[in-house]
Amino acid sequence: MARYSDPVCRLCRREGMKLFLKGERCFKPSCAIEKRNYIPGEHGRDRRAKIIGYGLQLREKQKVKRMYGLLEKPFRSYFERAVRQKGVTGENLLSQLERRLDNVVLRLGLASSHAQARQFVRHGHVRVNGRKVDIPSFLVRVGDEVAIKEKSHKNVQILSALEVNRGVPPWLELNQETLSGRVLALPKREDISMPIEEHMIVELYSK
Ligand code: SF4
Repeated sequence: MARYSDPVCRLCRREGMKLFLKGERCFKPSCAIEKRNYIPGEHGRDRRAKIIGYGLQLREKQKVKRMYGLLEKPFRSYFERAVRQKGVTGENLLSQLERRLDNVVLRLGLASSHAQARQFVRHGHVRVNGRKVDIPSFLVRVGDEVAIKEKSHKNVQILSALEVNRGVPPWLELNQETLSGRVLALPKREDISMPIEEHMIVELYSK
């Protein structure tokens, strides 16, 4: 599968905000947004041009794609599925993104970034309802149990991510003893605290 392989801090600098793609480093003064909050490239230090209309919608879509570590094609597929679902399209889109298995591992605090969570899933460290699932895009359902397999309970990266766990959203429940979590409900819009204006993505794709 294609994936983005350039330095991820450039993505935050492009969007002009922290996208939290590097785990603990994002909370330290060494974060690139703290040190060099301008667009990467030769003219990056020039004043940011005022973005309006289509440009704003495009940036919002790029930002959310990057937050969840997705490329255009899969992101667009989530949008198309969200359109077909009942309810508000933008909220349906965010709900699907939140329910991805790699995102759930991150939200439970079992990984420090999306990239690391995805790697844990791909490398077979994660079980869903006791069965190995190594597909990061797997969508969890209410009642599912997501757990780190027993053999990986001493994995240093998982344990250090847990140590700095910055809180679990209300739709999930974490059991620190068993390195597992349960999906209590489908994520609601108010459970997603990141600054996202999903209506702009809907407007962009609806053109
Ligand atoms: Fe973004 Fe984290 Fe890099 Fe800061 S350290 S620029 S928040 S990825």
